[in-house]
Amino acid sequence: MKKLVVLILLLIGQQVVASEVSEHEKKPKNVILMIGDGMGPSVMKAYRMYKDNGESNVENKTEFDHYLIGSVNTNPNDRDGNITDSAASATAYATGIKTYNGAISVDINQKRLETVLEIAKKHGKSTGLVATSEINHATPAAFATHTDSRRNKLEIANQFYDNQINNQPVTDVILGGGLDFFARQDRNLVSAFQSKGYQFVSNKTQLEKVKSDSKKLLGLFAPVAMAKKWDRDENTPSLSLMTDKAIDVLSRNPKGFFLMVEGSQIDWAGHGNDIVSVLSEMEDFEAAVKTAMDFARKDKNTLVIVTADHATGGLSLGLKADGKAYYQWGVELLKTFKYTPFKIIELAKHSGNLAEELKKASQIKLTADEITSLNKVDLTDDRTVYYVLNQLISNKTYTGWTTSGHTAVDVNLYAFGPGSNQLAGHRDNTEIGQFIMSLISTKGE
Ligand SMILES: [Zn+2]
Repeated sequence: MKKLVVLILLLIGQQVVASEVSEHEKKPKNVILMIGDGMGPSVMKAYRMYKDNGESNVENKTEFDHYLIGSVNTNPNDRDGNITDSAASATAYATGIKTYNGAISVDINQKRLETVLEIAKKHGKSTGLVATSEINHATPAAFATHTDSRRNKLEIANQFYDNQINNQPVTDVILGGGLDFFARQDRNLVSAFQSKGYQFVSNKTQLEKVKSDSKKLLGLFAPVAMAKKWDRDENTPSLSLMTDKAIDVLSRNPKGFFLMVEGSQIDWAGHGNDIVSVLSEMEDFEAAVKTAMDFARKDKNTLVIVTADHATGGLSLGLKADGKAYYQWGVELLKTFKYTPFKIIELAKHSGNLAEELKKASQIKLTADEITSLNKVDLTDDRTVYYVLNQLISNKTYTGWTTSGHTAVDVNLYAFGPGSNQLAGHRDNTEIGQFIMSLISTKGE
C-alpha cells in the first residue's frame, strides 16, 4: 500500500514537472504578428482559386492554409457603429482593449494605452514595424504611437521618433512608405533617427545591403504608399524582403523581439472593389508570411500569428448578372492580368487608349460597345476611370461587392510556433492582444 502511494506521488510529481516543462516551452522568445488589412475569408478563397494550378480537381493549399487555427471577431467599441475600422482593430491587437473607430491606442476616454511593442521594448526585446502603406498609417501607428484620431498623420510620424524608452525611439526597425511625412520642411525626422544610430535606406538595393549587425533601421521606400506588388519597379522592395531584413536585424537580440508586419493594401483594393489589386497584394502578403514561417520553423522559439483586422468590400465569388445567377467565378481571366488597374490607368494617360491598355494588361475580350464606353471615360478623372475599370473587370469575372467600406464578418486566424495551440478556436481581437501581452510581459529566457 505504502509503495503504491509513493509510486502514485512519484507519477504525479513527474506529471507536474512534465507540464511545467511544456508550459515553459510554450512561451516563445519572439512574436511576429502579421495583419492582412481587409483580408476577409472570401479573399482567402479568391486567392487560393487564383493560385491553384488546375492539375487536379482538389485545390492546392496556400501558405496560409497549413496554419488555420480559428476565427476572430473584430467589432469595435463605438457608439456610431458595430463595424470596425483599421485603427480600432489594430488598437485591440496592440493593447488588448476595445476602442472607438479612428482611435490610435487610446481608449474610449482618449486615455493612452500601453502597447505590446512598448512592453517588449521595456523588457529589453527588439521591436519592428513593416507595412506597404505609409508607416504612419493606422495599423502600424497603433503599435508605436497614441492619438485620438488616425487622421493626425504628422503627429503620428513625430511620435514614431518622440515616443521613447531609455532615450531611444520605441521601434528599432521601421520599414514601409511615408518618406514625405518623415523628411519635412518643418522637421526632419530622418536625420533625427540617424542621430540615434539608425541606418537609413530608401531603395531595394540599399535594403539588400543592410548588414544584420546593424541594430536600428529606418527604410522609407515611397513618398506616401508603396506601389502595388504587380506594379513595382526594381527600386521597390517586396513585403517579403522587408520582413526578411527586419527579422535578420531584430533576431540578433538574445532577449528576443516583437515584429508586426502589415499587408496594408489588400484593404485599399477592397475599398476600390478592385479584385486584380486584391490578388496582387495577397501575393505580396503570402510571400511575407512564408518568410516569417520559414524563420519560425528553423528558430523553434518564435510564434507567428497571421490574421486580419476586418473584411473589406463584401467580396463575393459569384454574381447575379442580367437576372441570371452564374455558377462560375472568372478566375481564369484574373490569372491573365500582368499588372493592376493603377498601372493600366497610368499607361492609358500616355497612350490615350484605355481599352487598348486593358487588353494589353490581360487577355480580356471586349465587345465593341465596351470599347466605345471605355474610351469615352475622361482620363484626367482618376476616380471615375478606376471605378469604371473595376466594375467592368468585376462583371466579366462574376465578382460581387456589397460595399465600398468594411464588413463585420469574422476573419480567419492562423498561427505557428510555441503557444499557437493556446489561441485555437473563436477569439475576440482583444484576446489576441492580451495573449501577446501575456507572452511578452513575462521573461522569455
Ligand atoms: Zn483595416
